[in-house]
Formats: sequence, C-alpha cells, structure tokens
Amino acid sequence: MKLHVQTLFVAIGLGIKRNWHIFIAIIAGILFGNFIHENPTVFSPLVKLLNIVGQAFIRVIQMVVIPLVCSAIVVGISSIGDSKQIGKFGKKMILYYGIITVLAVIIGAILVLLFKPGVGVQEFISQTSAFEIQNQVNSVIAEQKGQIGNLFLNMIPQNPLESLAKGEMIPIIFFALIFSLALSKVGEINRPIVSFFESVFAATMKITDWIMIFAAPGIFALTTVAVSSFGLSIFSTISKFFAVVFLGFCIQFFIVYPLILRLFSKVPVSTFFTAVIEALLVAFGTASSSATLPLTIACCEKRGISHKICSFVLPLGATLNMDGTALFQVVAVIFLTQAYGVTLEPIQIIQIMILAIIASSTCAGIPGAGLITIALVLNGLGLTPQQLVEGFAFLFAIDRVVDMIRTTVNVASDAVVAAVIADNENEIDYDLLNNTEQYKEII
Ligand code: ASP
Repeated sequence: MKLHVQTLFVAIGLGIKRNWHIFIAIIAGILFGNFIHENPTVFSPLVKLLNIVGQAFIRVIQMVVIPLVCSAIVVGISSIGDSKQIGKFGKKMILYYGIITVLAVIIGAILVLLFKPGVGVQEFISQTSAFEIQNQVNSVIAEQKGQIGNLFLNMIPQNPLESLAKGEMIPIIFFALIFSLALSKVGEINRPIVSFFESVFAATMKITDWIMIFAAPGIFALTTVAVSSFGLSIFSTISKFFAVVFLGFCIQFFIVYPLILRLFSKVPVSTFFTAVIEALLVAFGTASSSATLPLTIACCEKRGISHKICSFVLPLGATLNMDGTALFQVVAVIFLTQAYGVTLEPIQIIQIMILAIIASSTCAGIPGAGLITIALVLNGLGLTPQQLVEGFAFLFAIDRVVDMIRTTVNVASDAVVAAVIADNENEIDYDLLNNTEQYKEII
C-alpha cells in the first residue's frame, strides 16, 4: 500500500511539473483569497472582478459540453456498431461505478461512526445564520420528496430538443445513446450524420484546447473568490468534520483507485494519474464534473484510451458517478444526527448509505449540487425542521471547499473506470499511455 501512495505522489509531481502554472494558480488563489478574507472591504471590487473572470472561464467550458457530449456519443457508439459490445461495455461500466460508489459510502460510514465528528458541536451549528436560507432549504426539501419516484422517468426526454435547450444532461445522453445505436443499424445511409458529428467533435476538442490557455487565470480567479468567502480559519472551526471527510477522500483516491487499477487492469497507477492530472486540477478549480468533462475526455483520449470507451463511459460518469459526493453525503448526514443526539439504528445507517448512492447519482455535475441533493438523504431521520435548516446552513457555509475536493474525486473515478474498461476490452494504446514524456500538451 505504501508503494501505491508513493507512486501516486510521483505521478502528481510529474503532472504538476508539466502543469505548474495551474498548480501555482491554485496555491496563489488560496493565499490571496485568504488575504482578501482578512481584509474584505479593501478588496471587494477586486473580488467582483475575479468572480466575473472565474464565471467566464466556467461558462466557456460549459459552452462546449453539450455539443461535445452529443458528438462524442454519436461518433463513439456508431463506431462500436455491435449492440452486444455496447451492452458489454454498459454492464462493465455499471459494475465498476457500482463497486467504487459502494466502497465510498462504506468508507464514509465507517469513518464518521468511528471518529464521531458531530458529537458536541450542536452549539456551533446553531450559531450559523440559519434564517438566511430557511426558504431555500424548505423548497429543496419539498422538491426532493418526489425525486425517487421520478428518478427513472426523468431520464427519458419527452422532447430531446427541449432537454438540449435546458442542458439536462441525463435525458440528452439517453437520447444520444438510442439515436447513435439506431444510426449504427441503418448502414451506409448514416455517413452524412456521422461525418457531421465527427466534425463537431473535432471542433469542440479544438475549442477545449483554446479554452485551456486561460486555465491558470480562470482557476486562480475561482479559487481566490472561493477562499475569500470562507478564509482558511474555517478549518480550525470545522476541523474534525473536515478531517473525517478529507480522510475519506484520501482513502478513496490513494487506496481504492490504485487497488481497482491494480486488481482489474494492468494500467500503471502512476502513469495513469500523470495522464489525467490536468483534468483533476481543473476539477478542483471549477468544482464541476460537467465543466471538466471536455478535459477528462481530452486527457484520456490523447493518452491512449480509445474514443469508443471515452465517449461512452466518461459522459455517463460525469453525470451519474459521484462517489466523492456520496461519501460526503453519508459523513455529513450522520454528522448532523450525531450533533443533535439522534441515535441511528443499523438499518437507518444502511438507508442513509443507499439514499446517498441515489442522491449522488441524481445530482448534476455542477458546483454545490451534492449539497442540495443531500435533502433526499436527510428525510425521515428524526431531525426537526429547525434542525434541518440549521444543519443545512452549517454545511452551506463550508461547502465550496469540500466541493472542490469531492469533484476531484468524482472526476478521478470516472477516468479510473474508463481506463479499467479500456484495458479489459483491449481499447487502450499502452505505447501512448506509457510514453509520458511525449504526452501531447493539453494545456
Ligand atoms: N460539484 C460536484 C461535481 O460536479 C457535485 C457535488 O456538488 O457534489 O462533481
């Protein structure tokens, strides 16, 4: 296990050497954001400006997500052609995403029950400004009540164009998969459409390259604004809760992923993390798996994983596979019940774990979504409405920083699963993957 951790650090080190500008942008953003937090009035116009820069960066990446996802799926699936092979990929994808997420909730539950970070913090939780978010919380809880029943129905678009316009990822992917499968069955007549989407895919990848020129300033701005709102001192107030969540993320990242890569594939762990480091840094900066998707696809494809696998596994992963989010939700919910002295039966703990898996899969890959869907997990645990509001207010206050880390975990697991399936299916070019010196620059 020691070796895994060591090789991962080497991998991250290599990646950072290549991406030093993004890494420095993150560190500078953390330091400058903290400085602004301590001197808020002097810098408030600057924060507004940085916020615009950061949001502009996220928007331009989001701008390419839908054309990229649609074109990637059409090109990928129609090139697979054989529906049996698609079924095989699909089964493996569900299996690996399932294993990773179940492990995440188990790790979260064990850690929070072992370290009990919630005991004795009720006082502190109720001091956060609960009234400010009262209405928001009530509507979130009401909205989430019908969620499970509608979960599967909502995947099917009534009108694909409407889903496209609204940017609803899951219905879009659903339609794109069926459409591509149909295209693969109609023979040569599919050429014009497939060529059209091949061009769209190539162009969106080119735009992604251009956008990445602005990655360092964009991520600096996003990190500065995020840290300026909470300041580094927040870590001392929430230290135990944060430490437990962080430990869970580290176990997932440094132990579970290397183990999955080792056990189920021959993908070298350190090389793999070197290959996807740009995507991980952007995930940290943007706190959005969807916005990071163009980068995740670019890193995986340019470094050896076939387009067939990337186009299928990564878009679905960016919307459905949120193991970092599920882990966070389990810790956060049990933390709140500990804070309010609610005793949980073992069956309720299992219920929390199952609901966290569902809630995390329903959450969009955008900043803060994992916190909103937590309402689904919190239901029916014996907390009063007042306590729910207070708990939410507390989690809201610290969410951005946790979100940046859990998004990095979410994106890493998408890439791990893509790599493992690619290995199993002979869809990986090991000469390209192992030649880290020759990696084509993405940023
Ligand atoms: N921000 C996360 C993501 O995009 C979702 C969450 O809020 O947990 O992966």
